[in-house]
Amino acid sequence: MNSPVEDCIVIGAGLSGLAAARTLQSAGLEVLLLDKGRRVGGRMASRHFEGAHFDYGAQFFTARDPEFRRVVDGFLGTDVAAPWFDREGETRYCSPLGMNALPQSLAEGLRVACGVTVAAVRRDQNLWRIVTEEGEEYSTEVLVVTTPVPQALALLELSEQARNDLSTIEYHRCVAILAVLAGESAIPAPGFLRIAQEPLQTLADNRQKGLDGEMTGVTILAGPAFSLLHWETVKEEAAKLLLAAAAPWLGSPVTHWRYHRWRYSQPVQTFDARCYGIEGGPPLVLAGDAFGGPRVEGAFLSGVAAANWLLER
Ligand SMILES: Cc1cc2nc3c(=O)[nH]c(=O)nc-3n(C[C@H](O)[C@H](O)[C@H](O)COP(=O)(O)OP(=O)(O)OC[C@H]3O[C@@H](n4cnc5c(N)ncnc54)[C@H](O)[C@@H]3O)c2cc1C
Repeated sequence: MNSPVEDCIVIGAGLSGLAAARTLQSAGLEVLLLDKGRRVGGRMASRHFEGAHFDYGAQFFTARDPEFRRVVDGFLGTDVAAPWFDREGETRYCSPLGMNALPQSLAEGLRVACGVTVAAVRRDQNLWRIVTEEGEEYSTEVLVVTTPVPQALALLELSEQARNDLSTIEYHRCVAILAVLAGESAIPAPGFLRIAQEPLQTLADNRQKGLDGEMTGVTILAGPAFSLLHWETVKEEAAKLLLAAAAPWLGSPVTHWRYHRWRYSQPVQTFDARCYGIEGGPPLVLAGDAFGGPRVEGAFLSGVAAANWLLER
C-alpha cells in the first residue's frame, strides 16, 4: 500500500528518534516515526514475567546536559523519572514504572507506527522512498535514521565518503539474564552493582530500584568479552555460567529466568559530532547514541542535534 508523501519520517523510535521527532514537530513539521519493535523505546526496554518486573536494556540515566535535564525535571515527581542513587556527586535516574516509561511518555502526541521494519531506503529525485518488510511503501521529503549505525548502513545507499566515515562505528554485544528469585536478593542497597569483571558487567535488583512486582527480579548483564564469546552458545549453557557467576549476590533460589541478546548494546567508540547530516539530495541525517554518547542522554541529545541540523537547512 502506498502512503502520501510525509514531511519527515524518522526511522527508529528509541530516545534519539523520539527527541528528533519532538523537536521537528514543535517546529511545525508533520513527523511520522517507524519502528520495528512492538512498542517505542528501543534499548530502554522493560518487561514483566512470573510476577517480577525487569529493565533489561538501559538500567539508569544521567542528566548532565541542561537540555536533557529540563526534560527529566519535567517528569520528576511522577513515576516516569526519579533519582535512584548518586555516584561521584552525580545522580543516576530511573523510571519506577520501568525504563520504557520515559520513551512512552516522550512519544505522547507523536505519530508512531510500531511493528514496521524498514527493509530498504532509496532516493527518488527529491524524495526518499521507504520499503518495509511488511510490504508497505512510504515517501518523505526529509529522513532521519536512528537505528544503530551498521543497521543504517544496510538500509541506505551512501557515498563512499559517508560509508568510510561511518563504517568504523562498532558496538559491544550484551547478553542479559532476567532472573526471578524466590526471596530477596543479596545485592546491597541501592540495588545496583557494577562488577565490570568478566563474565559480569552489572547486576540490578529491580524491586529495590522501585519497579513493582510480587517477586524480586534481578537483571544480570554480561560483560562484552563473555557476550562475544558466548553469542552463539545455547542459552541454557550461557545462563548457567552467568547465574553461577552472579550466585554470591542472588541470595535466594532462581525460580525462572529469561535470556535476551543485544547485538548493538552500546557503541565502542562514538563519532565526534552529535549527528551525521548528508547534503546533496533530499535531507538525510543519522542520529543515535553512536553520535551523542553511549548512553540514554547521549541518544536524546543526538536526536535534538539531528532535528536542529535539518531545521537549519
Ligand atoms: C543492556 C544495555 C544496558 C545499558 N545501560 C545503560 C545505562 O545504564 N545508562 C545509559 O544511559 N545507557 C545505557 N544503555 C545505552 C542506552 O540504552 C542507549 O544508548 C540508548 O537507549 C540508545 O538510544 P537510540 O535511540 O540511539 O537507539 P535505540 O534505542 O536502539 O533505538 C533504535 C530503534 O530503531 C529501531 N530499528 C532498528 N532497525 C529498524 C528497522 N529496520 N526498521 C524500523 N525500526 C528499526 C529499533 O527497534 C529501536 O527502537 C544500555 C544499553 C543496553 C543494551
